Amino acid sequence: MQRVFNFGAGPSMMPLPVLEEIQRDLVNYKGKGLSVMEMSHRTPVYEAIIEDAEATLRRIMNIPEDYAVLFLQGGASLQFSMLAMNLAKRGQTMDYAVTGQFAKKAFEEGKRWGNAVAVTDSGADHYRYIPKIAPHQLHEDAAFLHITVNNTIFGTAYNTLPETGAIPLVGDMSSIILGKEYEVRKFGLIYAGAQKNMGPAGLTVVIVRRDLIPEEIDPIVPTMMQYKIMAKNGSMYNTPPTFPIYVAGLMYHWVEDQGGVKELERLNMKKAELLYDTIYRSEIFKAAAEPADRSPMNVTFTLRDEALTKDFLQMAEGRQMVNLKGHRVVGGCRASIYNAMPMEGVERLVECMLDFEKGKRK
Ligand SMILES: *Cc1c(COP(=O)(O)O)cnc(C)c1O
Repeated sequence: MQRVFNFGAGPSMMPLPVLEEIQRDLVNYKGKGLSVMEMSHRTPVYEAIIEDAEATLRRIMNIPEDYAVLFLQGGASLQFSMLAMNLAKRGQTMDYAVTGQFAKKAFEEGKRWGNAVAVTDSGADHYRYIPKIAPHQLHEDAAFLHITVNNTIFGTAYNTLPETGAIPLVGDMSSIILGKEYEVRKFGLIYAGAQKNMGPAGLTVVIVRRDLIPEEIDPIVPTMMQYKIMAKNGSMYNTPPTFPIYVAGLMYHWVEDQGGVKELERLNMKKAELLYDTIYRSEIFKAAAEPADRSPMNVTFTLRDEALTKDFLQMAEGRQMVNLKGHRVVGGCRASIYNAMPMEGVERLVECMLDFEKGKRK
């Protein structure tokens, strides 16, 4: 069977060489006589897998030594609660930039724990842009400023990070991690669900400056939700998501083989530019995000009317391009073009858009 170009936002397309390596090693991992899925996490073979995944991620993201890397479960969504409970004292002020649906969810979870404040909110404008944050908007006693670095649903991204001074910046990078280079040092904490750009669902990566991990924590915080416990146990306080971590490790090596994050960023920018240029020039497709804040990963666009959208999606599907339907809150279309989407996929999409438009003009 021929593989399709999968433009889904997540779980999303993975590189074929990675899938093939998994397939080769699936039933008998490197001659050990068993699958990674069947291995105890407390064996030298598996320990080598998780250590290599961490070491490779550290290399490709240039993660400084004073940052811990945690491999957790619960999705990016659990981090909405976990980061608040660990970085803020109960009742403390926490600043949030509400720039999309996930940002809003993070903010709502923050409210359960402390004085979560939305320092900015572009909801009234359908989250079409990223509002600038001036330093004076932040609260002096805030535990952090939380931003969603790439807004997967609305197709916007922070192309420059806000200056937060002494206040730690916390970034949800679920849909842009490894797709664009960001300096880890600019953040106090970075988190990301794996299923966008790092492999299968079931794994969440947290990168946190060690001095932000509290020694003392409110005893109401469940053990499983304490960074200190997870860090102390090398993400193996309990059984970690062994298979997704293994696959993430393969993805990190793949990124390195492609020339690293910088090279993938270069390709991603080219892919995005081609697609956005096509949309900007079109008379029937319309970009959903403001150009200055457009996402290089999730390209959101609408058509003149909903009926046309359906026709277009159908045409694209006929050409082996799937999951282009926009999120239900935005409508229209969304092309998620993460690292694994080759230029060829974007070129095919553009060709389809041009053909569709030609057909409608007559
Ligand atoms: C997908 C996504 C989430 C939710 O991730 P889960 O792993 O499903 O909890 C959160 N934030 C962003 C930016 C996302 O893209």
